Amino acid sequence: MAGIFGHLVDCQSLHFITQLSVLSLWATVRLLGLLFRTHGLMAGLVRQVGHSLMNIASGGLNLLFPPRCAYCRVDIAEPEDHLPICPECCRRMVPEKWVGCRHCGGAISGDGESSDHCSLCKHPPLLFDTVVAMGGYQDNLRDVILRMKNPRQETLTLAMGRLFVQKRFSELSGLGVEMIVPVPMYWKRRLVRGTNSAELLARCLGRKLGLPVRRRLLVRCKNTKPQSELSPKKRFSNMRGAFRVRTPHLLQDARVLLVDDVLTTGATGSEAAGVLKKAGASMVAVAVIARAQGKE
Ligand SMILES: [Zn+2]
Ligand SMILES: [Zn+2]
Repeated sequence: MAGIFGHLVDCQSLHFITQLSVLSLWATVRLLGLLFRTHGLMAGLVRQVGHSLMNIASGGLNLLFPPRCAYCRVDIAEPEDHLPICPECCRRMVPEKWVGCRHCGGAISGDGESSDHCSLCKHPPLLFDTVVAMGGYQDNLRDVILRMKNPRQETLTLAMGRLFVQKRFSELSGLGVEMIVPVPMYWKRRLVRGTNSAELLARCLGRKLGLPVRRRLLVRCKNTKPQSELSPKKRFSNMRGAFRVRTPHLLQDARVLLVDDVLTTGATGSEAAGVLKKAGASMVAVAVIARAQGKE
């Protein structure tokens, strides 16, 4: 059936139309729910019928147009836990467990046991408390991070956010944080690039962990040079004074999860964490899709 349709109409448009249909159905159900809000029993009934209809519709649509992997674009015949990334890509990108330094997330070699500090985080001291990383900045994950800088790849960024929460749920929820703060971009660079993957990841993490995302709490007030053009040592001086807090009253004794796409030397995360703590935060953990080993 999918094959016949594929010959007739462009597949991308069909995906869009089907998504639109599901969205319209959802909107209708919500509207009916609102109309019957005063009659609790009726509203419950409408919701039940609505959900059943939605399940049937999305099941049928998945059969006709199987979801595609957000990275390699193959059809996902049996989505693993509703993930938008195919099992093969998941296996390649995400190690079962990220064995890293508890302070900076740097990979630990040798016997594979985590430690509290490593050679990467001794000098200079890093001002965040801990790092949760999905994997190492290499191969497919490195390619994903580079693609996430493109505004046309926002679907991939959101998919990576979902994958991150799913694979590292216990580490993330075990941090006991109260809010999520994305690492902001300088406004001009944000305008030119058209997207900030840290913001999208933060939104995804906030939704899945049930935490508020404070997108405007931290501001990038200095147009710093791109870190990738600088030596590891110069990255720390480059970031000095790059951030300020807009609403410090929200931070008093708060435990914060700072979100970014990649952590290399830790200069950006450390500077942001220092500013958040100075404004009142009691703990700052950093969540990143990939942890590089400080050389790039
Ligand atoms: Zn794939
Ligand atoms: Zn370390």
